[in-house]
Amino acid sequence: DGAVRFEDVRFGYVPGREILRGVSFEVPAGRTVAIVGPSGAGKSTISRLLYRFYEPSSGRITIDGQDIAAVSQASLRAAIGMVPQDTVLFNDTIAYNIRYGRWDATKDQVEAAARLAQIDRIIASLPQGYETPVGERGLKLSGGEKQRVAIARTILKAPPILILDEATSALDSFTEREIQDALERISRGRTTLVIAHRLSTVVNADEILVLDKGRVVERGSHPALIARQ
Ligand code: ADP
Ligand code: ADP
Repeated sequence: DGAVRFEDVRFGYVPGREILRGVSFEVPAGRTVAIVGPSGAGKSTISRLLYRFYEPSSGRITIDGQDIAAVSQASLRAAIGMVPQDTVLFNDTIAYNIRYGRWDATKDQVEAAARLAQIDRIIASLPQGYETPVGERGLKLSGGEKQRVAIARTILKAPPILILDEATSALDSFTEREIQDALERISRGRTTLVIAHRLSTVVNADEILVLDKGRVVERGSHPALIARQ
């Protein structure tokens, strides 16, 4: 389960300036859909509406047929793991920031060990250890490092729905490969919405939507869209 649907969703941050102008699509349960398109098209806005940072001005967003407006914020956020463009961390240790996503979410010890091994690899790529305090009175992490903490948190939480917002954009290309592998493993079998700038980074998506000025202007498989370019 975890099927996500947008039905004719409209939204603007300020009155008189519509950012999403009737967006409809579905991410079937367990599938991966990617949204690509130019900067400012409204891609991140879609992820923010799904996580309910904002409400649509009209239209509906549903998970398994249920309008997310009727779901409690707590259960919505337990069901969705989000790796945002700009990760905000708590002024606490790296370990705290990862555990916040639910250290003990799983009772399956084998599964838990596999996840922790993945997280260890990601943390090993940071110059700091788990117990290092970060934030105002601790170490300042770069954008890419913060994103790695957010990815580790999401891997641990292993929610049924994932939102990956340009999840590897702030990483150097060496780290990007490692992170991409980890994200591919975690997204297998989960409903995943990937927000990306470039078509080349979303080869594995089941469907790709091209968003432009708040509208879906094209959709298809990766090979189909490449062929049309
Ligand atoms: P994309 O992810 O495709 O680059 P966004 O969804 O981030 O696009 O932004 C779409 C439009 O909404 C842009 O014109 C952006 O300036 C505007 N926008 C984004 N966030 C806000 C905000 N918090 N308040 C007002 N306008 C915003
Ligand atoms: P990236 O190119 O990966 O985004 P940055 O150039 O932002 O990296 O940072 C490189 C290194 O400098 C990182 O290890 C980061 O932890 C450290 N760093 C970045 N900003 C600060 C800061 N304000 N104070 C201390 N260390 C910092």
